[in-house]
Amino acid sequence: MFKINRQKMKAVLLLAGMAFILSACSGAKENEGAEWTFFAMDTYITLNAYGKNADAALDMAEDRMIELEHLWSVTDEKSEVTAMNRGNGDTVEVSDETADLLAFTLQMASQTNGALDPTIYPVVDAWGFTGQENRIPDVHELNRLLENVGYSKVKQNGNEVTIPGGTKIDFGAVGKGYAGDILADTLTDGGISSALIDLGGNIQAVGSKPDGSDWKIGIRNPTGDGHIGVLSVSDRAVVTSGSYERNFIGEDGKEYGHILDPATGYPVENGLLSVTIVAKQGKLCDALSTSLFVMGLDKAIDYWKRYRDFDMILITEQKDIYLTEGIRPQIELDETWGSGRLEVII
Ligand code: ADP
Ligand code: MG
Repeated sequence: MFKINRQKMKAVLLLAGMAFILSACSGAKENEGAEWTFFAMDTYITLNAYGKNADAALDMAEDRMIELEHLWSVTDEKSEVTAMNRGNGDTVEVSDETADLLAFTLQMASQTNGALDPTIYPVVDAWGFTGQENRIPDVHELNRLLENVGYSKVKQNGNEVTIPGGTKIDFGAVGKGYAGDILADTLTDGGISSALIDLGGNIQAVGSKPDGSDWKIGIRNPTGDGHIGVLSVSDRAVVTSGSYERNFIGEDGKEYGHILDPATGYPVENGLLSVTIVAKQGKLCDALSTSLFVMGLDKAIDYWKRYRDFDMILITEQKDIYLTEGIRPQIELDETWGSGRLEVII
């Protein structure tokens, strides 16, 4: 019913799991559920599924996640991303999943005018956001690296991908969202109609709660602990990007975040603290949370007005909250958070 594998989880998770078992065992049969926690794609993943097939479905979902990690890890010598990045101008053949993810990422890169750019990877690396120590690269180093950045340098023809030498991609900004979609399908195929997938804060809700009510998703306070409010959703993905997630204080005393503006190579600094996207597809949410964060408030609103196929919550440094009209009825804001305004985008 509760399984811990791959990584030793903290005692608190174990206790939470035991409490869950107790409550699940005493609950009605149709509400029976299982919770699994494991580590993959650099993040703690928690899967909750309900129904009598829960354990078997979660087993499949975990296996699937490990497969996807092996395909897309930028540090795994044997991954398909590494194979593409080492192609040096030669054509490399990739799996259907990788081809789909790449095609979607390139399409979103184009649609966001390059605010999303998977070829920004060497610059992310230079700032030390890929694992090693953080540092501030000088402007010459950044400009040199930017010469090889540009999503249009990546050529794709179905499963065949060609990336010139010096250019490297990674799916850090979209992979987890796409993995959420694939896990949701895996659980659904496994007979599950109610599940919550949490990929390190990237949420994917399958159906509604077992009792038919909406899932309650906390929207994190980007300035500290706790939440700014709670969102009620069914059958939706909810993904947030913000520099508060990963950043460092430079020797100059300034804070540098892990989301970079591909136009300059510098961390985004535009007055936004976080961007949350709500939509059916996790991959769309993940791509847009990163790219609208890069665009900043005004361009993000323009982008929404043009497409309107998602909802969003933008939080600014003034602690103002901007949200699209579609989710106004679904969000309950915490009264104690912030002093700023609430603006509904219509
Ligand atoms: P997280 O993965 O922390 O949830 P995001 O989805 O916003 O957050 O992805 C941020 C990651 O994407 C960064 O850590 C970096 O690897 C990569 N990245 C940073 N800036 C960009 C960008 N403009 N376009 C594409 N990828 C980016
Ligand atoms: Mg993202």
